[in-house]
Amino acid sequence: MLIGNHVSSSGGYYAMGETALRLGANTFAFFTRNPRGGKAKEIDPADVEKFLRLAGEHSFGKLVAHAPYTLNPCAADKRVRQFAKETFLDDLRRMEYTPGNYYNFHPGSHVKQGADTGIALIAELLNEVLTPEQTTTVLLETMAGKGSEVGRTFEELRAILDRVEQKEKMGVCLDTCHVWDGGYDIVNNLDGVLQEFDRVIGLERLMAVHLNDSLNECASHKDRHARIGEGKIGLEALVRVIRHPRLRRLPFILETPNDDAGYRREIALLRSRCVETEEDS
Ligand code: FE
Ligand code: FE
Ligand code: ZN
Repeated sequence: MLIGNHVSSSGGYYAMGETALRLGANTFAFFTRNPRGGKAKEIDPADVEKFLRLAGEHSFGKLVAHAPYTLNPCAADKRVRQFAKETFLDDLRRMEYTPGNYYNFHPGSHVKQGADTGIALIAELLNEVLTPEQTTTVLLETMAGKGSEVGRTFEELRAILDRVEQKEKMGVCLDTCHVWDGGYDIVNNLDGVLQEFDRVIGLERLMAVHLNDSLNECASHKDRHARIGEGKIGLEALVRVIRHPRLRRLPFILETPNDDAGYRREIALLRSRCVETEEDS
């Protein structure tokens, strides 16, 4: 099973890889720069090389990098959209140091412009930054629908994907807390939710999972993450997610409120509950 958590990127790639191993992880997520925005540190090729060797030795799965929260491709303010574009371009350039991984982002908040305008602006930005040469796959994250967030429904994500020219560079990251808060009942009807995802988007586009419990009820539109087993989704429903035949090979990323010891415990717990078969080894 591929599982990991968000690790601090301040020490570089090799340090992230070592942290992941220490926590029992074989993939991880990291913010490409300060999650609240700002300038990124330049990448050290020697550090990347050391990391790639380590990742190879330990059979790491694909990494799931996360764009800063302040990146809003569908902001009403043109300068905010310009910042989103510049950040996106710089992040995609830096992602190529570690080829073939994932870059996940929140589609954004349309702030009173309406979802349709939001969708058009998000697709417009993607069409300006994606290239046929890039090896990174860009993931749209499923959102809880807090405020004017775009991407609460599978239909909105599909509408964005439909407008993107470089479709083969795009995928979706399903956040269990967000879909639950968004109104998809993964506790009582995981199969139904995945069928709906397949019907609207296509399960072949689902490339990663943010594995979080939620402090709130289904359809609360709150987006407050809880530790695994301490929220309204609960451990057993999350175990069904990691064991699901259509999901079990995806990278699972924990975004739970934890320190390192807590992440190590959650990773060990989930590993003890997943089912490995012959074909996984
Ligand atoms: Fe996210
Ligand atoms: Fe998430
Ligand atoms: Zn969230």
